[in-house]
Amino acid sequence: MKMLIGGQWIEKSQTIDVLNPFDGSVIDTVPAGTAEDIRSAIDIAQKGYEINRDMPIHKRISILKKTADLMQARYEELAVTIATEGSKTIQEARKEVGRAINTITISAEEARRINGETIPFDSAEGSENRVGYYYRSPIGIIAAITPFNDPLNLVAHKVGPAIAGGNAVIVKPATVTPLSALKLAECLLDAGLPGEILSVVTGYGNQIGEALVSDPRIRMVSFTGGGEAGERITRLAGLKKIGMELGSNSPVIVLGDADMEKAVESCVSGAFWAVGQNCIGVQRIYIDENIYDDFRNRFVSRTQKYKTGSQLDENTDMGPMITESEAIRVIDWVNESVSQGATCLTGGTRNYTLVQPTVMENMPDAAKLNCQEVFGPVVSLYPVASLEEAVQKSNAVNYGLHAAIFTKNLENAFYAIRHLDVGSVIVNDSTDYRIDLMPFGGVKQSGLGREGIRFALQEMTEPKVVCFNL
Ligand code: NAP
Repeated sequence: MKMLIGGQWIEKSQTIDVLNPFDGSVIDTVPAGTAEDIRSAIDIAQKGYEINRDMPIHKRISILKKTADLMQARYEELAVTIATEGSKTIQEARKEVGRAINTITISAEEARRINGETIPFDSAEGSENRVGYYYRSPIGIIAAITPFNDPLNLVAHKVGPAIAGGNAVIVKPATVTPLSALKLAECLLDAGLPGEILSVVTGYGNQIGEALVSDPRIRMVSFTGGGEAGERITRLAGLKKIGMELGSNSPVIVLGDADMEKAVESCVSGAFWAVGQNCIGVQRIYIDENIYDDFRNRFVSRTQKYKTGSQLDENTDMGPMITESEAIRVIDWVNESVSQGATCLTGGTRNYTLVQPTVMENMPDAAKLNCQEVFGPVVSLYPVASLEEAVQKSNAVNYGLHAAIFTKNLENAFYAIRHLDVGSVIVNDSTDYRIDLMPFGGVKQSGLGREGIRFALQEMTEPKVVCFNL
């Protein structure tokens, strides 16, 4: 596919192959964009910002609604794109398309509710004859940098609110999964979005990504990805708004009174969804020691039923990891933890990018699988003597995105809600639960700010005060 700069589809002599991670076959190519392309995109986006700022909200709404309709018409094509360039199975990909359509639809709805309020100027002595208000005005050009694991919906989460709020937006999609973002851009243009408002520039993060975030004309960097790139971008960005949606190694607590079958089912699905390449995927499970053996046996037996294979096979439960080097890293982490004293209960092997779903126990505190984000299909089980111990261990990492607890006891649930140091606590489901309109984001190294359309809109607009001196 070509890349999109201010309404023009651009080819380049230098291209990047887009591979199917299952077999390494080339499915398409995209241009290798340069810093010069980024500067052109920003030049045009300056005009795009003025166009969108001055566009009546009803027009933004109708463009976003039409985009959602066009995505609906291309539902299966979008799902196949996600499941061919990325790791998700076709069934997982279809769910992502449904969510992305919802994200764009909610962006249209929220555009109606970008409200301000009146200001009681006469509350200050000397201001008795003043009246006024604030409204929310767009902030300008937004850089949207996105990861590979939800290549459509995470782009929609930035582009939808950016456009609804009256901004221009330049997307830098993950190099391994650029096609879904380009197809979303096609839908937006076909829905009547003026070309100047949106660019999707393909190319390497350490080249075009850095040119994008360091340009002073960019007023906000909205980044979703890993902590390392997030730190680097924060340093390069200088004086501009920053939204950071980063990683985690999410904990789930299972107490003795939990519905065991429900807990096992949700945690297996939460651990292996998208091959565990999921920022809210289940990585650590703290289980009441009295039910530990039962939980472990059921968990392992459910995991062993998983069928790995091609993403496009309707019967595949879990597809390939995104690259072979990522698959190798995950197996290295498993082997390293075993050399440190951990036990592999099932899995722990790979064939090219296919990693078998892996369940571990006896995980030492210092092992990477305990304290870092694995971003792969590996989950560790830990027996605990009390809820307090489970909460303390859940919090003993540098991340804090989602945490979950399974219990029928309200007091225990509220203890966990109060004491877990995270952005969301899910009760009686795994950490892998999210709907697109809830405020989404983390504490500690898991990020800064919140997405979830209404909350992204707050970040992507700012209050502008108007005061009349009567
Ligand atoms: P990544 O390697 O950090 O890449 C994310 C994006 O940043 C890609 O587009 C990448 O471009 C770009 N990038 C990399 N280095 C850059 C730089 N120096 N300057 C500007 N851009 C740069 O992450 P990933 O492997 O795609 O995704 C996995 C991570 O994302 C995990 O940590 C996961 O937890 C996190 N994630 C978080 C959320 C959330 O909402 N909290 C959601 C999903 C994923 P290239 O592709 O060209 O390298």
